[in-house]
Amino acid sequence: MPVPFVDLQAQYRSIKAEVDAAIQRVLDTSAFVLGREVETFERSFAEYVGARECVGVSNGTDALHLALLACGVGPGQEVIVPANTFFATPEAVSAAGATPVFVDCDPVTYNLDAAKLEGAVTARTRAVIPVHLYGQPADLDAVGEVARRHDLVVIEDAAQAHGARYKGRRVGALARAGCFSFYPGKNLGAYGEGGAVVTNDAEVARRLRLLRDHGSEVKYRHEVVGYNSRLEGIQAAVLSVKLKHLDHWNELRRRHAERYREMLGPLEDAGALSLPREADYAEHVYHLFVVQTSARAAVQKSLSGAGVHTGIHYPVPAHLQPAYASLGHREGDFPEAERQARRVLSLPMFAELTERQLRYVAHAFEDYRAEGAAAAG
Ligand SMILES: *Cc1c(COP(=O)(O)O)cnc(C)c1O
Repeated sequence: MPVPFVDLQAQYRSIKAEVDAAIQRVLDTSAFVLGREVETFERSFAEYVGARECVGVSNGTDALHLALLACGVGPGQEVIVPANTFFATPEAVSAAGATPVFVDCDPVTYNLDAAKLEGAVTARTRAVIPVHLYGQPADLDAVGEVARRHDLVVIEDAAQAHGARYKGRRVGALARAGCFSFYPGKNLGAYGEGGAVVTNDAEVARRLRLLRDHGSEVKYRHEVVGYNSRLEGIQAAVLSVKLKHLDHWNELRRRHAERYREMLGPLEDAGALSLPREADYAEHVYHLFVVQTSARAAVQKSLSGAGVHTGIHYPVPAHLQPAYASLGHREGDFPEAERQARRVLSLPMFAELTERQLRYVAHAFEDYRAEGAAAAG
């Protein structure tokens, strides 16, 4: 039985009538770029996250880039980011003209290790970007404490954590700005590219609105040199439909994670793999269900042979990417991030996973173990 890694078709089938009607509405009004659908979505998403403002942009990378600019980050400054994240996090820092400075990750939560944060602060540090990796909130209080001591701006990278809660409050609105991606495979995904920044700071929101639209608030009057990073009407209309389902979908993801834990627990007890843990302050939304195993290549091959599609997030940590060779890092600089890069394996995870599929994945793991035991013995 093939088990896909994500199944966007299954999700579309479950909301087809609503989505088709929403897209038709945009076609009928021709509000293709910004416009009413975008404003409506911005209002609903701000309310959902608990932020005063939401500014829709073209994608999650732009959300980070423009949020950094709106918070005054620029050339000559450093921005601290976790070594284990999607490349867009440090890339946005570079796009803003600043230099990414990496910090190692916590072995249990996979997130930026707040205990190591202060050691990375220099006189040039201007900001820090905690990433809520795989859907689990980073320890924002610990990050915030260091940020306050050193007068750093905190910008959340919530691209994998729509709806996740930190100490009961939704992430995104818990720092100066929170950045979201609506890439199709994210927990809240558009049918194309999309992103947003949420903030409680009216001045940051004003600057973001200028930056995303050629530095212009009034047509053909350009206050600053900006960008073209506008959210499209069709994407906003789709997102408004999907936002109504997000909590339910996240709840299903959490249930699937629990089933994986129940079924794979014995393998963890036997030392064959380790399962993701939820921090006591966190409500995880499982954008990804990431296990660790020292036999990753063999496990992945065996699962793939059984039709189970898996992923690796991410095989090379940011500090060892060729693009950042100029920063002069070498293997051993961030041992935990490097260890994770060798061991992590993401299992199929999406709201529409069935109990049969979940069981099949767990059985495929057991079969691998049985084969391994046979080969060894
Ligand atoms: C997806 C993602 C981004 C970038 O979002 P895009 O919409 O693909 O540009 C940034 N940070 C993290 C952690 C992501 O997962």
